[in-house]
This record gives sequence, C-alpha cells and structure tokens, in this order.
Amino acid sequence: MVPGIYIHIPFCLSKCGYCDFYSVTSTEKISPFIKSLLKEMEMYHGCFSRFDTLYLGGGTPSLLDSAQIEEIIDGIRKHFPLSADTEVTIEANPGDLSREAAESLFKTGINRISIGIQSFDEHILSFLGRRHSSIDAISAIEHIRNAGFDNMGLDLIYGVLGQNMESWMNTLRKALSFRPEHLSCYQLTIEPSTPLGIQYRAGEIDPPDEDLLYDFFMRTSELLEASGYSHYEVSNFARGDECMSKHNRKYWDHTPYLGLGPAAHSFYGNRRWWNHRCVDRYIEEINKGIPPIEKSEILTREQLRLEALYLGLRTKMGIDMEEFSKQNGCDLLDEKGALLRTMEQEGLITITDNRLCPTRSGLLVSDSLPLL
Ligand code: SF4
Repeated sequence: MVPGIYIHIPFCLSKCGYCDFYSVTSTEKISPFIKSLLKEMEMYHGCFSRFDTLYLGGGTPSLLDSAQIEEIIDGIRKHFPLSADTEVTIEANPGDLSREAAESLFKTGINRISIGIQSFDEHILSFLGRRHSSIDAISAIEHIRNAGFDNMGLDLIYGVLGQNMESWMNTLRKALSFRPEHLSCYQLTIEPSTPLGIQYRAGEIDPPDEDLLYDFFMRTSELLEASGYSHYEVSNFARGDECMSKHNRKYWDHTPYLGLGPAAHSFYGNRRWWNHRCVDRYIEEINKGIPPIEKSEILTREQLRLEALYLGLRTKMGIDMEEFSKQNGCDLLDEKGALLRTMEQEGLITITDNRLCPTRSGLLVSDSLPLL
C-alpha cells in the first residue's frame, strides 16, 4: 500500500452554483499560498518512505501558470520520494487549456489530466454556472491530445434540473467520440450551503425525478460498458484496468494519503486529519510554524470496518472476504450470511470465490448496502 499525495489548490475565478468544494475567488493570495504550501511540505519531510501518486485538485489548479505548477512539483520532489512510475494528475477547467497552457502542463511532468467538462449542452453549462462553453471544452480536449497527454479523464454531471435523457446521451456520446481513458459521471447533489441548495430550500427549484435519476444511472452504465469502459466505481469508468485512477483508488481501500493545502484531508493507519478550510488561516498558521491542522480523529475498529464495507461496495472489485476478515476480525458470511444471500437473490451483489461484489443495480444503492 504505497501512499499518495493530494494538494488542494483553493482558487477559482468564479463559484459554480452547485459547488461545495472549498475555494475562494480572489487570486491575489496564490503567491503566499504557494510559499505556505512549500513550508507545509517541509513539515512532513522524512515522514513517508515513498509515494506513487500526486494529485493536484481544487478549486481550479489550472488557474496557476506553469512556473507556479513547476514550483509545486519541484517542492514535492525535494521533500518526498516519488516512484519512477508516479501518476501525476491535475484537474483542469476547459477555459484555461489553451494550446500553450496544455503544452506547458505536459512539460512539467504531469501525465494525467482530469478536465471538468460537465456537459456539452450550453443550457446545462449555463445552469451550472460554468465559465466555459462546449466549444471551449472541445478545443481543450484537442489541445490536451496534441500536447501529448495519453491519459485524459473527462468529468461530467447528470441529473441537472431541466436535463432530459436526450441531452445527457448527447453529452455522453460526444465525450466518447474523444476516446478518453477515463470518464467520471457524477449525479448532481444539491448541497445545502450552496446557492443551488438555498434556491431549493426556498422552493424555487424542484429536485429531479427519482425514476429519471435511476434511468440516467443505468443508461450511462450500459452505454459506457458497451463502449468498452469498465464501470469500476459508482461514478467512474475506465477504458481498461490500467486507466483506472490510481490515486482515487487509494481513498476506497484505506491506503494512506497525505493531503496538503487548505481543507485537504489525510489518512494513515487509523488516523484521519484535515487542514483549516480557510486559506488565510492556513497561511497564518504555517507562518507561525504550526501545522495547519483543524482537527484529527482516531477511527475505532468498528468505524474502520464500516468504512471498509461502505467503500468496498462502491467499487466493482468489491470486498475480498478473507482479507476483510483478517483486517476487521469479522467473518461476513458467518455474521450476515442470510442477509447477503437475500441481497444476492435480489440482484444487488454477487458472491463468488469468497469475494463480495456489487452488481450494476447494487452500485446504484451502494450507499445503503453496508447498513443492511
Ligand atoms: S470550478 Fe470546480 S471547484 Fe471551482 S467552483 Fe466550479 S465546481 Fe467548484
């Protein structure tokens, strides 16, 4: 279990109405933030023996210029040993990916790019408050390919108010026409603290119909699997096992990860900790020489067991019951055998070779499976 590094870049040019990720729209703090980030790296120097993934997420990491991104990656290389085959991912907004920007990103050693396309339908993009058009998205994809990237992921959203199946299928087919190595298809969640959540509470908008959401999920999975993609996690599809996100898989199997930057979370053994969700506080604490940690928790054996169940059942790989029993001291077939057989009969899971895997319908309700 080789750990991964996540870096949170907390800046966006504007806030999208549905977004609950931490970011600020004032970019004048980018420079002091990078200085603090380098100091935070120093604080963890020597604490880990090796990493094999580095993920620059946000926020909008592609807002940074190539010199700033290089400074961050150089800092990582100075303080942490990286495997030769390290997966280095950056999240990017299509509007930031000019030909020059794509070429510069490629030169920094980044070898995987995840582009926030969300939709190829202008009405949906405008509803979501995105600052790019579908034309920008198509140009960005072309620049990325021409720059030399052979590992590209496209992020899409479905279940948007006013979106019908035809619009979503058109977006999916358009995305497929670029043969991305990876596709993430997220169902829109209405988070209470976002502008969309406020509109929802005020009764100004209705949530999408449950039956339609079910159809979106099933049709997405069917189309992408028929097109050669493996539906390997609830929202994620890969064109072959080698195209799965090496970094995100660490979150699903309790591999340790180190999170740097405001609001970033870390996990090691049975401890989870996270940084202040405020860039000013983050910079202030680091300037005082204090780790910018807001809180940490030690997970009990029971919490770890539940998490392993919850996370395992979100992935196609499912749960190796022998391994689960060794790590959690709980034999799932002994304790929950009757229930698991019922779930198997209902077509939610399969049990073969001591492995418990969710079916397509099981993935859809995976959030509630561990509670059964
Ligand atoms: S660009 Fe991404 S991180 Fe920034 S507000 Fe929009 S969805 Fe959130």
